[in-house]
Amino acid sequence: MKPLSDIGLVGLAVMGENLILNMASKGYTVTAYNRSVDKVDNFLAGRAQGKSIRGARSIEELVQSLAKPRKIMLMVKAGQAVDDFIEQLIPHLEAGDIIIDGGNTHYPDTDRRTAYLASKGLRFIGTGVSGGEEGALTGPSIMPGGSPEAWPFVKDIFQGISAKVDDGSPCCDWVGENGAGHFVKMVHNGIEYGDMQLICEAYQIMKELLGLTTDEMHEVFAEWNTGELDSYLVEITRDILGYKEDGEALVEKILDTAGQKGTGKWTGVIALDLGVPLTLISEAVFARCLSSQKDERVAASKVISGPAVKFEGDKKAFINDLRNALYASKIVSYAQGYLLMREAAKEYGWNLNYGGIALMWRGGCIIRSSFLGNIKEAFDKNPDLNNLLLDEYFLKTVDAAQAGWRRVAAAAIANGIPAPTITSALTYFDGYRTARLPANLLQAQRDYFGAHTYERTDKPRGEFFHTNWTGRG
Ligand code: NAP
Repeated sequence: MKPLSDIGLVGLAVMGENLILNMASKGYTVTAYNRSVDKVDNFLAGRAQGKSIRGARSIEELVQSLAKPRKIMLMVKAGQAVDDFIEQLIPHLEAGDIIIDGGNTHYPDTDRRTAYLASKGLRFIGTGVSGGEEGALTGPSIMPGGSPEAWPFVKDIFQGISAKVDDGSPCCDWVGENGAGHFVKMVHNGIEYGDMQLICEAYQIMKELLGLTTDEMHEVFAEWNTGELDSYLVEITRDILGYKEDGEALVEKILDTAGQKGTGKWTGVIALDLGVPLTLISEAVFARCLSSQKDERVAASKVISGPAVKFEGDKKAFINDLRNALYASKIVSYAQGYLLMREAAKEYGWNLNYGGIALMWRGGCIIRSSFLGNIKEAFDKNPDLNNLLLDEYFLKTVDAAQAGWRRVAAAAIANGIPAPTITSALTYFDGYRTARLPANLLQAQRDYFGAHTYERTDKPRGEFFHTNWTGRG
């Protein structure tokens, strides 16, 4: 073991322990520390045994064990715990030392902490880490932002432990200043909400409309995972549908109320703040909210009736439509997520590398999929691409998927099966490709009741008019 550690890590819960083991497996020496010190002893006596990992039983011991500039990564509960550790660390650190927050922090907190630590002569990195427990151990997706001067000191460690794509490129690169890394991680989580909800809608349509069994759906997802939908979430859905308990599919015994920790909501809220139509992710968040109102839904299901569910047609062809609906909706979701990042970059002065972000998400994280390779290519071809839907590949793909997507949305609506993300994605798509929306009437209404004025199609943009619609003085 080296006399001084390359990095210290605070927080010995699932993520922290696995990241330490990952770093040690790549040849780094790591000092482990935790608020409840008994966890340090348990870790050293257990999983850390025989590895280049030392324990610290106090903040002083942690700091003294590190090579300079010191690098200390916090993997603790997001929020107050991060601020508390920062305060405890500051008196023991020297100018140029680096604190890294790897938790699921809301990006404004990272903005604040970067500025605060800079005022103390310290560097700060706020980084998204995705991939859960297994990713942390074997190679997560890492999305760092904060003080750019800190990046060269942690680059080798982070890129070394991160997931790699087929050509060996790491799923980790510098995202941008201040809260940019945590912002991108937040959008990742929002996209994860959308991808999961889309899959759930496909499952419900197959189950309710086509009457497929879980075994049949397991087969469908297995097949989908071999094509353009190839992704971690489709793969685990295949496995979940195939999982049996006492000979029956376990998934059917799970209560239909979804939990959430807030990152999807943050994504929707900032989209509203920035005026970006992030409809699919927002619908996915609301779908979780509605699912959690279980008692109300059960009561309503007894008094409100809908259409009888009836499917007449070729099931195989419809399953193909469903695959197209899922893929086209997913493209819309990523297009919207990228539009949000573009708007945030303008607002906060970040220089985001959009292709690089797709590469960071290509492996290691929950939304990893082969499709992210197509997004990377789209931005490599045109770094200024405004909307993914305008890229040649996506234009062609959505065009080919469009008819099936519409048949699925229409069937869901006609049969009363809720499909909020598939249908809202289609609505966005139709809105985006419509040159003239009915907002002319909306502007007239606003002018009628509030004298908000309007622009005219027969006058230059920027000239505003008001009409006395009632003729009253
Ligand atoms: P966690 O359950 O979020 O947090 C537990 C850790 O935080 C423990 O080390 C705990 O110390 C410490 N802690 C909690 N409150 C504290 C306080 N007030 N003061 C000091 N320390 C405190 O752990 P996790 O699941 O490993 O996640 C760590 C971070 O990574 C979180 O921000 C999480 O959101 C994020 N993350 C998690 C996942 C995942 O799959 N779990 C994936 C990506 C990102 P004690 O042992 O002393 O209680």
